[in-house]
Amino acid sequence: MAKILCVLYDDPVTGYPTTYARDTLPQIDHYPGGQTVPSPEKVDFLPGQLLGSVSGELGLRSFLESLGHTFVVTSDKEGPDSVFERELVDADIVISQPFWPAYLTPERIAKAPNLKLAITAGIGSDHVDLSSAIGRGITVAEVTFSNSISVAEHVVMMTLALVRNYLPSYQWVLDGGWNIADCSARAYDLEAMQVGTVAAGRIGLAVLRRLKPFDVGLHYTDRHRLAPEIEAELNLTWHPDAESMVRVCDVVTINCPLHPETENMFDDALLGKMKRGSYLINTARGKIVDRDAIVRALESGRLAGYAGDVWYPQPAPADHPWRTMPNHGMTPHISGTSLTAQARYAAGTREILECFFQGRPIRDEYLIVDGGRLAGTGQHSYSAR
Ligand code: NDP
Repeated sequence: MAKILCVLYDDPVTGYPTTYARDTLPQIDHYPGGQTVPSPEKVDFLPGQLLGSVSGELGLRSFLESLGHTFVVTSDKEGPDSVFERELVDADIVISQPFWPAYLTPERIAKAPNLKLAITAGIGSDHVDLSSAIGRGITVAEVTFSNSISVAEHVVMMTLALVRNYLPSYQWVLDGGWNIADCSARAYDLEAMQVGTVAAGRIGLAVLRRLKPFDVGLHYTDRHRLAPEIEAELNLTWHPDAESMVRVCDVVTINCPLHPETENMFDDALLGKMKRGSYLINTARGKIVDRDAIVRALESGRLAGYAGDVWYPQPAPADHPWRTMPNHGMTPHISGTSLTAQARYAAGTREILECFFQGRPIRDEYLIVDGGRLAGTGQHSYSAR
């Protein structure tokens, strides 16, 4: 029997919900491009429930316990005295979400001799040291596509919020004001701006498609070029690198995975190549940008705004400089954990577990590391040190 250790974010401060704003979720059976949504044999939750917090348990408890497995769920994940580190020593499987990542460092992996499978309930497995996983033969899997559209919608929202100066204007309403000049002195139209994405994978391409009707110029840079039909359909300009793209863009959105090639990509040098007054949206990973260089760029006006939901570390400490820098629109890491996304990645996690326990292959599109090497999606999108 296996021990499954699951790290989830805390319940709401008001307690685990007993009612929800909506009664049902819209259903889809496949994603853009044709990949089918998760298809476990069964789920033990109602789509639309809060599944990503500790009491939600990703809807897995009755399934796992009915098979005789031990299921430990905690939000306590930092430091040597944490529940996570204590329970890890004899865990066979670790599940965590990028929003509240259980960092599987080389040291922690070394302390977990039984560990065979690390599941990311969501997308982005950079919280797992992939080189160590490769060395130890640990399978790393994530629920590819489960929340890609959720993130793309968030990028569009944040782009408009920054360009149109929404958040400060809303604040004037909360403060009882009617300060139209204060609101409009930083507000612009997105129309005719040049918008570029670093990476045009599932999220990046979905952002481009969603922004097309705004009549903007669309740009991208990626290691592999999109099909000529897609470039033509969206009237895309491809750039060989981020530097040549950011020079011509008014809005830049980052949609690549964090791996050695992309870590710290947006440093003082690259930010210095951006047009004065650019907007930068990062829902990919906090470490893709240099934390303090972002603050400097906002203070100097090189960036007119920065928004996103990814930080390092997570949760961000109360004194993280991004909480107080000017003209930002940051949220906690939430874009990929809407209730819609949770239903999908909880089902995908269950599908991966069913495959693992029944000795069936895990879908190639869910694999990041398998058999001691980058595999499936991991082979395409990641690089190991
Ligand atoms: P995909 O794998 O579909 O796309 C990633 C793309 O990044 C690929 O096209 C890949 O290129 C490209 N890429 C990799 N390295 C580089 C590089 N150095 N320069 C330019 N492009 C590069 O992933 P998704 O779109 O689904 O997700 C992207 C990332 O978004 C995730 O890895 C995760 O970090 C983040 N994410 C954030 C969420 C949130 O809640 N904020 C939720 C989900 C994901 P190619 O394959 O062509 O080589």
